[in-house]
Amino acid sequence: MIKTDVVIVGAGPCGLFQVFELGLLGVRAEVIDSIPRPGGQCSELYPDKPIYDIPAIPVCSGEELIQNLLKQIEPFHCGMHLGDEVTEVDARDDGTFHVRTGKGQQFEARAVVVAGGVGSFQPRQLRAPGAQACEQKSLHYRVQHPQLFANRRLVILGGGDSALDWVLALADTARHLTLVHRRDEYRAMPSSVARMRELAAAGRIDLIENAKCSAVHETNGMMSGMTVQPKEGAPVEIEAEHALVFFGLAPKLGPIADWGLDINRKTINVDTEKFETSTPGIYAVGDINHYPGKKKLILCGFHEAALAAFAIKQRLEPGRKVHVQYTTTSPIMHERLGVPD
Ligand code: FAD
Repeated sequence: MIKTDVVIVGAGPCGLFQVFELGLLGVRAEVIDSIPRPGGQCSELYPDKPIYDIPAIPVCSGEELIQNLLKQIEPFHCGMHLGDEVTEVDARDDGTFHVRTGKGQQFEARAVVVAGGVGSFQPRQLRAPGAQACEQKSLHYRVQHPQLFANRRLVILGGGDSALDWVLALADTARHLTLVHRRDEYRAMPSSVARMRELAAAGRIDLIENAKCSAVHETNGMMSGMTVQPKEGAPVEIEAEHALVFFGLAPKLGPIADWGLDINRKTINVDTEKFETSTPGIYAVGDINHYPGKKKLILCGFHEAALAAFAIKQRLEPGRKVHVQYTTTSPIMHERLGVPD
C-alpha cells in the first residue's frame, strides 16, 4: 500500500502538469497510466506532429511537449506507475480514498485527480472468428515473454513500429515467421521497413501485404493457423502456433465509468471553481471533464490543473488560507523547485 497525498489517474499532458501544480503547493502525487509510457494522446497519437497553441512555445511536437513536462516535474519526484490501469477508486468514511490497479498495486490517497483523457488506451483487437478464444493463450496484443515464441511458427499482424520491431527481433528465433499487413505502406520507421524487406527477400520471413486475417483456427484456445484474405485472389492458409497482433491502441472510458461519478456521455461533470466531481475529493481535469463551455485543449487542461491544485491544497489543509505565490519571487516555491535563492 502506497500512501500519498494525491493519486493522479492518467499521465497525459494534463496529468503531468497536475503533478507540477500540486508540487508547487507542496502536495505529493503518484501518477498511474495504463500505457507503458507517459504522454497520453500526445505520445500515442501524434508524437511527431507540431503543436502551435501552447502559450509561449511557438511550436513543439507532441513528444517534445511531453519531454518538457517530464523535465518540469522532475523536482517533485512523483511516483510514476506505467502500464497499469486504475480499476477501483473507493471513498472511505475518513475522507481518504483507496485506489487499486489491475496489477494489484494499492494506494491510500487524500484526494484523487482523474486526468483520464478520452479513456484508457487499449490494444485494438483482431475481429475474426476464433480470435477471442485464443487471447492470452496463443494470440497476444503485447509481448511479455519473447522466449514463448522460440522455435514456434508465428504470425505477426500489423504495419506500425511494434509489429516491425518484433518481426526484426523474433525472425532469428522463431521456427517460421509470417508478417501480414493490410496495406503495402507502413507506419513503422523506414529503416525497420527496409530491414524487414531484406529479410523477406532473403526468404527468412514470409510477407503477405494487402491482406487481412479472416479466421483463426483453434482448439481450446490453442491456435493451429489462420486464414488470410488478400484484397485480390484466393484466401491463403497459414500454419501458426502463435499470433502477435499490433493494430495500435484505441481509447476506452473503461473502469472510470464504475466509480460512481456523475458521468455525461463519456465525460465527468465538474464545477469550474475546483474542478471537483460529484464525489468530494475526486477532481477531474483535461479532456475527461465536462462543464459549460468546455474545450478539449491542452491549454484549458493546464488551467484546470492549476485551480484543482489550489482546491486540493485547501482540502488537505482546511482552515488555512491558500495564498497565491509567484514562482519568480516565492522562496518556498524556489525550495520546492530546487532553485537556489
Ligand atoms: P490524454 O492525453 O488523453 O491522456 C489521458 C491518459 O489517461 C492516457 O494516457 C490514458 O491511458 C490514461 N488513462 C485513462 N484511464 C485510465 C485508467 N483507468 N487507469 C490508468 N490510466 C488511464 N490539443 C491542443 O491543445 N493543441 C493541439 O494542437 C492538439 N492537437 C491534437 C492532434 C491530434 C491528432 C489529437 C488526437 C489531439 C490533439 N489535441 C490538441 C488534443 C490534446 O491532445 C488533448 O486535449 C490532450 O491530450 C488531453 O490531455 P489529457 O491529459 O486530458 O488526456
